[in-house]
Order: sequence, then C-alpha cells, then structure tokens
Amino acid sequence: MTPLYLLEENENKIFIMRDDLLPYCFGGNKARKARLFFEEIDKGGYTCVVTYGSFSSNHCRVVANMAAGRGLKCHIISALETQKDTFNSKMLRLFGASVTAVDAALVADTIDKTLERLRAQGERPYFIAGGGHGNLGTQAYVDAYGEILQYERESGIFFDRIFHASGTGTTQAGLICGALLNGDRRDIAGISIARKNPRGGEVVADSVFDYMRTRRADFSAEAAKSAVNFIDKYIGEGYGKSDVRVKACAEELLVKHGIPTDLTYTAKAYRGMLDYIEENEIKGENILFIHTGGSPLFFDDLEAF
Ligand SMILES: *Cc1c(COP(=O)(O)O)cnc(C)c1O
Repeated sequence: MTPLYLLEENENKIFIMRDDLLPYCFGGNKARKARLFFEEIDKGGYTCVVTYGSFSSNHCRVVANMAAGRGLKCHIISALETQKDTFNSKMLRLFGASVTAVDAALVADTIDKTLERLRAQGERPYFIAGGGHGNLGTQAYVDAYGEILQYERESGIFFDRIFHASGTGTTQAGLICGALLNGDRRDIAGISIARKNPRGGEVVADSVFDYMRTRRADFSAEAAKSAVNFIDKYIGEGYGKSDVRVKACAEELLVKHGIPTDLTYTAKAYRGMLDYIEENEIKGENILFIHTGGSPLFFDDLEAF
C-alpha cells in the first residue's frame, strides 16, 4: 500500500495517495501495472518484451527496467514525432533497450513485424500495449481501489470523490471497476491530460466493459458508459503543453508540501481538480487525489520553473 494522507484542508479536505512512491524506478501507475505484466512474464517462460511509447514515456522506462533486471531484452517501438531526449529516454539507454523509431502511422505495423521477426528467431516475445493498456493494466487499479477501501476501513475516513490524471484510461477504468465490484457509487473523476470527449470517455468505458465482462457476464455497455466521468475541460493546448497556472500549481505543491509533480500529467490534473471543485461548488467533502507518478518528467520540467 502506498502512502495516503491529508494534504490540504480548506472548504474540503484533500487527501493524496502517493503512487509516485511505489518502490520501483520512480514508481507511478506504470510501475503498478508493470508488476502484473512481469508476473505473467516470469510464469510464462518469455525470452523478451515488446512494447511501444514515446521517448518521454514513463511506461517504457519502467518496462525496460523490469526487463533489464531479469536479463530480458526489451524492444520499444516509438513514433519519430516524439523523439525528444528526456530523462526517461536516457534511462532507456542505460537499460539497454532497443528503440525503433518509425513514423506514427507505421507503429502498429512495425510492432507486428518485430513480433514476427523475434518469433522466427526462436524467441518467445511478450507484448505489452502502450501505457499498459488492457485488462491486466485495469486490474492494477482494481487492486489500488482495494487499498483505498482498506484505508477507509482502518481510518474511518470515507472519500466522496477520487480525482487523478487520465490518459489511455486504464487507471480510471480500474478504479471505476473497483467501485462497481464493491457497489460504491462515488464519483471517480479522470482529468484528461490529452484526449477530448467523446472519444476519451469512450476508451475508458470500453476498458471498463472489457474488464467487467470477465467478472459479470451480464454487464452492459450502457452500464460502463454511465460509470465514466472523463473531464476534458483542462487539457489546455494539448498533450505535454501547460500554462502558467499549471506551473504555479506544480511550484506550490513542491514548495508547500515537498511533492514533485510533472506538468504533463500530475500538476495538470491537480490544477484541473481544483478548478472543477470550484466550478461545481463542491464543499465539505473528503476528496482523494491519486498522484500517478511521472517524477523523471518533473526533472525535465524543472528548467521551466
Ligand atoms: C501514463 C500516466 C497517466 C495516465 O494513465 P492512464 O492509465 O494511461 O490513463 C497519468 N499519470 C502519469 C504520471 C502517467 O505516466
């Protein structure tokens, strides 16, 4: 269980769950997901790992580290457009990952060809979707939801809402499935850091549906849809772009609380949460914010402070 504590008390009580402190390679939600993938890899006799993501990808960093620690080769397919050198890409080199950069339109095809080539060479590759998307990634946050329930049981504090940064939607889907399986009706609000609705919310609903179907044969697509609150109002100029308010928020979280947040995910989501609370006149609630990680990106961002 990651640290969870009261952060701010104003019109509401804001608590924070520090998944950035998961004890593996700067933690974060990608570490939570990757643990489950590597349990399968360890059991299945796989000889290498294939995944995709950008040069700044937290997912690729953690997967490349877990592969290297086991002596497994990690093959990463990356879109040419995203090839900016970052602390995450520097770590990929350190982990000896092989990175193939291709045009964004060719990523899917290159993954297929890479898997084919590796199999032809007698390898047994394990494929992980970008960001750890899929039922196993969802499972990681069903488990995290269980930790939140445990905290509530032990502390007697109940959270009215949960906020976090939402990207591919697996984190949000896992939390929603956790709530559904426990019959909880509280709002799980994903603050989008890139995708617009309707697509952004649909992707989360699809993940909820896919996972819930493995648990309940009669679970409907409508039930999945109505459980999703995917908020696309605080994206600003788009993925990886942030404004002065997001920077000010990151600065305050660091100076006042000693919590590093990156501008692409966590600070953007935290700022979005504060705006959402104000715009919707939410008062007198216990609110949980999940810090989903991204600490290496924080160091890339430090230049902008
Ligand atoms: C990937 C990532 C997210 C988004 O998670 P999804 O499960 O893809 O929605 C949020 N925060 C950080 C720091 C991330 O690296």
